[in-house]
Amino acid sequence: MTSPRRLRMLEERRAALETCGYCPKLCRETCPVSEVEASEALIPWGKMTLTWYAARGDLTPDRDVARLPWACTACFGCRERCEHQNPVAPTLVAARAAYRAEGLAPAASERAHARFLQKRGRLHERARELATGDEDAGVALVVGCGYLGARGSEAQDIVRAARALFGAVRVLGGCCGVPLAEAGDAAGARGLRDALLEEARGRSLVVADAGCAAALRDAGAETLVEAAASRASRLTRLPQPSEPLRYHDPCRLARGLGLVREPRLVLERALGAPPAEFERAGSNTRCSGAGALLPFVMPETARGIARDRLDEHERLGGGTVVTACATSLAWFRAQGARAVDLSTLIARSLLGG
Ligand code: SF4
Ligand code: SF4
Repeated sequence: MTSPRRLRMLEERRAALETCGYCPKLCRETCPVSEVEASEALIPWGKMTLTWYAARGDLTPDRDVARLPWACTACFGCRERCEHQNPVAPTLVAARAAYRAEGLAPAASERAHARFLQKRGRLHERARELATGDEDAGVALVVGCGYLGARGSEAQDIVRAARALFGAVRVLGGCCGVPLAEAGDAAGARGLRDALLEEARGRSLVVADAGCAAALRDAGAETLVEAAASRASRLTRLPQPSEPLRYHDPCRLARGLGLVREPRLVLERALGAPPAEFERAGSNTRCSGAGALLPFVMPETARGIARDRLDEHERLGGGTVVTACATSLAWFRAQGARAVDLSTLIARSLLGG
């Protein structure tokens, strides 16, 4: 008799999977994915429990089951609601790696993975173009692949803001590895992260993008917004905006790093008044739909999540959305919204213009 096929999950993930498996679904209302896709399998409990079944051999790992861990934006909403603070998002990212090792990763994720590797050299070059005469700087800056790859001026704004705050900064060409980790390539992600930390060695690390910063916090990363908030007296008031600026808390900044006060402090200094708010804000923020490859793997769902945020934004009076996350910025703009990055406002507030 042959033993059932099991998903090879690391032993350290078992406790997290079991915790959800035995839970009466207490966080079911929090998930942006299942809010748009009314499916029991897509609530956090469903994704974790079906992964658990696959790991213990009660469910055959196949392409349908393998899609479940990709139905997550890594927004940390369920962890926030959970009495156990169960780490659902990192567990599902680990499950992606396990499924990918079985050759079961969704094709769209594999395409995103290949595309990222293809453009990584260009992103490195772009970062090096932004780095001029900074080899000896004591501060290393991670701009973020999302900003480096975007058409707008955000990458330049980030470098301008960092130089205004710290003087010389060394702009790093490397990547924190998150895009590969989210595609299930754990080894590739580790390699990129290690290379980046080697590039930063001996310098203090400053990071602009919320996702990169959350991933690099354990290596001592400070965010650009924290740096600006702790030097708030240097921020000057911007000209009165012609329409409201509404701050959208990026999940990984607000829930991942607990940075809720700092962006508001910076915005209040720059705008002369607190920013407009979404109904659910701070650690209770709702996701933009852009995270963890959801726009690649479940584009309609990701669009539906963003639409919900933008409908709320319009209902509350509209204006421009402010964010501090490269993928949210691009995703809101892709839905036709006016959106600006916090680092652009920081650069303008520090330097004028
Ligand atoms: S994350 Fe927590 S609340 Fe949600 S299903 Fe798992 S154990 Fe239950
Ligand atoms: S981290 Fe967010 S998207 Fe992922 S399962 Fe939890 S609530 Fe859903």
